[in-house]
Amino acid sequence: MGESGGYRKGVRYSSLKCAECGEELMTMPQAKSFMRSAEKAKRVTFSKWGEALAVRIPAEAVRQYRLKAREKGAFVFEKDGFKILPSTA
Ligand SMILES: [Zn+2]
Repeated sequence: MGESGGYRKGVRYSSLKCAECGEELMTMPQAKSFMRSAEKAKRVTFSKWGEALAVRIPAEAVRQYRLKAREKGAFVFEKDGFKILPSTA
């Protein structure tokens, strides 16, 4: 068994993987951690905005990161997706 993992429904998980048959399984702590992350993950909808798409940032994130309308942020391309960094970060 080796360390493995990936993304399920956009939520990161870690697991153990059999080197011979490729079967993946989660230990109890790994499963609990995945469930916690899945509960916290917010589902978002991409809306059409000209040729671009818009995403509504959840109010919880606005409060947590003290975001303000018209504030600037950075769009960062990553291997598994992207992230938006507030200018205050
Ligand atoms: Zn196996």
